[in-house]
Amino acid sequence: MQEIWGWRAEGGFVPARLPGRLTEAVRADPALAGAPFLVLLPPLWDHHGHVAALGALLCQADLRGARSPEEALERLRTSSVDLAPGAWLEGFGWDQNLWEGGFPHRRLLDDAFPDRPVFLRRIDGHAAWVNSAALRAGGIGESTPDPPGGLILREKGVPTGLLVDAAMEPVARRVPPPVRQELRRWLRSGLRSLRAKGLCGATDMGLERAHVETLRLMEAEGELPIPLDGYLDVARTGLDDLPAHRGPGFKVAGAKLYADGALGSRGACLEADYDDAPGERGLLIWEPEALNDAVRRLAALGLPPAIHAIGDRAARIALDALQAAGWPSGSRIEHAQLLPETSIRRMREGGVIASIQPCHYLSDRSWAAERLGARMAAAYPWGSLAQAGLPLLLGTDFPIEEPDPLRNLYALLTREPASERLTLAEALCAYAPPPGSLPRAHLTIAGLQTRPGEGAAAWLEGGVARTFEGSET
Ligand SMILES: [Zn+2]
Repeated sequence: MQEIWGWRAEGGFVPARLPGRLTEAVRADPALAGAPFLVLLPPLWDHHGHVAALGALLCQADLRGARSPEEALERLRTSSVDLAPGAWLEGFGWDQNLWEGGFPHRRLLDDAFPDRPVFLRRIDGHAAWVNSAALRAGGIGESTPDPPGGLILREKGVPTGLLVDAAMEPVARRVPPPVRQELRRWLRSGLRSLRAKGLCGATDMGLERAHVETLRLMEAEGELPIPLDGYLDVARTGLDDLPAHRGPGFKVAGAKLYADGALGSRGACLEADYDDAPGERGLLIWEPEALNDAVRRLAALGLPPAIHAIGDRAARIALDALQAAGWPSGSRIEHAQLLPETSIRRMREGGVIASIQPCHYLSDRSWAAERLGARMAAAYPWGSLAQAGLPLLLGTDFPIEEPDPLRNLYALLTREPASERLTLAEALCAYAPPPGSLPRAHLTIAGLQTRPGEGAAAWLEGGVARTFEGSET
């Protein structure tokens, strides 16, 4: 017999009943029906992810979790069998932290794919592993200088096929864009898989013009499995004639800017050298003046800026830009991964939202300390952000991580030291839908293997979440 528990923000878990009309839906779902414990939770909304990229994963080579460059190559061979001769081979998700020997080399790709351009984004999206055909297509050779905000890795002066941040752009621009039907399929399958993970809606952090156009059509034709808010990716859309839309199922909610890269590819912009790479401090994607100007223009358009800032220097420069624009309402810092106390204080003064992805910590913790050394004490500072009274939003940055809300909560509730954890009540608040974004009431039901508890998070392991319309518990 299943035990059913309900979450009461003020009183924790209490025995509950399943809303009668959901009994059949729960019975029809093997994961929920087979779980000894069910928990009724408020609706969960993932506040930072990339829907088209999630959907595209189903159509591209999925390199997540590959344990060696050779294993990645094996998957590429499999996924390229149906490709037309000369068509681009795209992949996503490799991570050199999972294998020996560091960043991969173009040679391996050249041997397998001498004529077909290959473009493979790293798991954090901030570096690409490409072959010689792709370098040629992007016009990158020995004499190409590193672009501002980018790095072309070289060996005796010759590009190795590893491009960081802005250096990816010349090649990325040559990858043919998906045709409209394909994009629609990506968006639909991305949204469907979010729904299957127990989310009632999500916020996309990388809308392009074609995404906005396609999502509007899908909304008009009733084809959105869950509602979506989105932030325009200014690197893709530019700042002129930005598309706007506010519908019941989809709206353009703001604009996304990148201040720096990511920690895994040493692109996060730090105040001092990387502990494991003396002389390197990462990359600033915008010069401070240009960032100030962009933020000011977005604020004038009434588009709240969300600034990706992982390194402590990037965060400081992002806060400078927000302050110079008069702290636009709804401003967000994405990732908020390395923040000294002064930056946290400034965020509070400016009413800046901290958008955090606790699941990154589960993936990063084995190597983040090597990159940051003593600075780890100011990294992933979720408890400090909450104690400072900052508004918090939770996301997973899918498809970089699984959009699994239970795994995200697990990371948050098991963080060491315990002072950087949130309470479950705080976490569920930060998972709440943006006001007005959920047209109908929803309810999350989690199927668990052990009895729910608030403190010890083991009850979340192996759990599954589902989303249902209707609010009564
Ligand atoms: Zn992201």
